[in-house]
This record gives sequence, C-alpha cells and structure tokens, in this order.
Amino acid sequence: MAPSATTAFSPGSSASYLPSTDILSSATTTDHILEGLRSYVSSIDPDECDAGGEDPFFVADIGRIYNLHMIWKKLLSRVEPFYAVKCNNDPVVLRLMAALGTGFDCASKAEITRILDLGVSADRIIYAHPCKASSFVRFAAENNVKNMTVDNVEELYKCKRFFPDANLFLRIHTDDSKSLCRLSIKYGAKIEDAEEILKVAQELGLNMVGVSFHVGSGASDPTAFVEAIENSRHVFDIAMEYGHVMHTLDIGGGFVEETFVNVAHIISRTLDKLFPPHVRVIAEPGRFYVASAFTLATHVIARRYIPQENSHMVYLNDGVYGNMNCIIFDHQVPEPHVLTYQQELVYPEQYTPSTKVKTSLWGPTCDGIDCVSAECYLPYAVEVGDWIYFPNFGAYTLSASSQFNGFNERCHVKYICSEPAAATLAGI
Ligand code: PLP
Repeated sequence: MAPSATTAFSPGSSASYLPSTDILSSATTTDHILEGLRSYVSSIDPDECDAGGEDPFFVADIGRIYNLHMIWKKLLSRVEPFYAVKCNNDPVVLRLMAALGTGFDCASKAEITRILDLGVSADRIIYAHPCKASSFVRFAAENNVKNMTVDNVEELYKCKRFFPDANLFLRIHTDDSKSLCRLSIKYGAKIEDAEEILKVAQELGLNMVGVSFHVGSGASDPTAFVEAIENSRHVFDIAMEYGHVMHTLDIGGGFVEETFVNVAHIISRTLDKLFPPHVRVIAEPGRFYVASAFTLATHVIARRYIPQENSHMVYLNDGVYGNMNCIIFDHQVPEPHVLTYQQELVYPEQYTPSTKVKTSLWGPTCDGIDCVSAECYLPYAVEVGDWIYFPNFGAYTLSASSQFNGFNERCHVKYICSEPAAATLAGI
C-alpha cells in the first residue's frame, strides 16, 4: 500500500543509503530504461493495433528521482526542497515527492488542489507566483495556504484585501543571464525597490516572512546564486528596519545535475556565512529532480527522401505541440536515439543499415514550425514503424503539452524503478 503523504518518509532515517554522486549526469539510458522501452514497444503491433495504439510514451525511472533526492539531502542538507509542480506534474512523481516529505511550489489553483488532494498539509506548499488572480488568493486563504510570494506594491494591496494573514516572501530580481530560461525579465523586485515594498507592507500590517528569488531555469553558474543570496541578506536587513521579522529564505529553482555538486557546495558555504542557522532555507527545484528520470519514445509515422538535398525527412508522432514543446519554451535540444530499426530492407550499394544519413525530424501536426530537429544523422535503415527515443525528457515536457490537431490525447507513462524503496513510496 502507498504510504500516506501526510506521514512523510524521513530520508534522514535511511542515512545508511546514499547513492554515489557519480549518477549525476552519467549516461541516463540505463539498462533498466532500455528494457522498459523495449518491453512496451514489443507489446504493440503497429499492423494490428487500434488507431493511436502506437502513440508516444514515456518510461519514467522513479528510483532515479529517489536517488537524486538522497543526493540533495546529502549535499544541500540545510535547504528543504519544495518541488516545483509545473516542471512535471505526473501523479506518481507527485506521490513520491509527497511521501519523501518535500514541500511543493505551486503556481495556480489547480496545482494547489492537486497537492492538497494528495493529503499534503497546506504549510508544505508555497504559492510561488508574485502576480496572482484575486480569486486564487481567496482560494489560498480558504485553504490556509499561507506562504506566497509578492514582488510589487499592488500585490500587497491584493493580499491585504483577500488574505491579510498570509506569510509573504518578497521575490527579488536576479542576474539570470546565464540560465537556459530567464525569469527575472518578468518577475522579481529590483533591490532598489525592495525598501518601498517593505515599507508599504509595514503600513498595511502584513507579515513579510522572507525573501525568495529564482536565478533562472537551467542555471549552471553558481555566482548567480551567490549574488542572489547576498542580495537577500541585504533585503533581510532592510526588512528588520521596518519591523519585519524575516525567518525564511527561498533560493528558488534552477538546479541542474551537471553542476549540482559544485553549486551545492558554494550555496552551502554562502548560506553559512550570511544566514545564521535559525533562518530556515527552502528551495523550489523542478528540473533537477525529474529531467533525467523520463525518456520519451516516439514512433516513426512517415518518411520522405529529398533527392535534391540527399537528405531524409522523418515524421514522428510527437512534436513541438506535444511533449517536445520544450524545444520552443525551454530551449532544449532533444537527442534522438534509435530504439528499433528494420534491417530487412534492400540497401543501395553504398549503405549498410547503420550508415548515418542526413535527416530532419518532424512532429505530426500540420504546422511547419513543428520541427524536432532541422539536421541530425540517423541510421539509413530508420523506416516507418521504427521507434526513436529521447533521454532526459522529464522537465517541462508532458506538463506543457497540448492536443493541437488532435494529437497526443493519450500519452502513456510506463514506470520502472531502479531503486526498490522508491516503488513502495510512490505506490507503484
Ligand atoms: N520556482 C519558480 C517560481 C519557477 O518559475 C520555476 C520555473 O520556472 C521553478 C521554481 C522551477 O525551476 P527549475 O525547474 O529550474 O528548478
């Protein structure tokens, strides 16, 4: 039976189990994942299946998420993760995170509802959106979701009117110029405007309990975190002058596996230098937890040879309107791998089945923007009916996919678990 989300598992209690940090950004297509991909594909007969029976699907290794959490607890022990639901709202992922005892960063009524419905208590949620619809603020108040972010004076008046007891975090601007997805062009009070916001909050009698920031999603530069933590210290000090007793720092998201060891070390050192131990530190990681745990498998539905360019156009049943929306919204560059290819074709003399040929990959919709890769090299033998998979596909993919053109109405997730303890926690 799945453990109750309200009686969260304590990772500290299993301190004897610590995965090696070698797993960070190691080859993520493990034998477990390949086996999962192959077994699902072998259950589909493209010649006989119902329409859509060969739809794209994910293989999700829940054990990897568990191991990444253990690494987080080990290397960033002072920082409590509040998983960013927007990054991947798969129900099993959310159930696992709830059972692991993380908090949750929610950005809307729907996300808050999903987390409360798991039995997670309201104090484990931060409503991390500085510009909220008034009705959503009322909803948060009705459900006692007190932690929320603000970055402007108008939002303070909204909170005063609809949720005067809220615990407010002042979201500040960061230098996110080296991140994959910039957020501070839209949110975050400039440091020079922080004082005015804190002053108005004091006049309104609001509870300013902390500072939050986000250095941009996919942030590989640790100096962005250092500068943001220093700025947060400055804002804590100004807040004190206005009588606000701040007790929590929220260092946002932006973590990636590749640089995590270094970034965690630098963050821990900076926090210990600038914030005494009684200050609680939380974060809102998304990508770090789920990116490498999900692999997307797509079916080759059509193929055209373009003699003028001596290149091949390969059409897949997923594209930028579906799970590959990350190409447009998240600036990701998917890496295609061939899972199956047919070797029974008759080859021109100069080719073997595995000769790599110039290929462009396209999604299934009628729109020309639906291009997965303008140029890549795939084996000559890739044909209609083959499967192509894309590793590292768990962040900002299925949570933002649309059904444009009637595609992608059903995307199955096959769960595997390389770490048995995680299966019990996730209830799979
Ligand atoms: N918190 C907020 C407010 C965000 O906007 C985002 C992503 O957009 C995240 C957390 C998660 O960021 P990441 O997936 O880079 O860790």
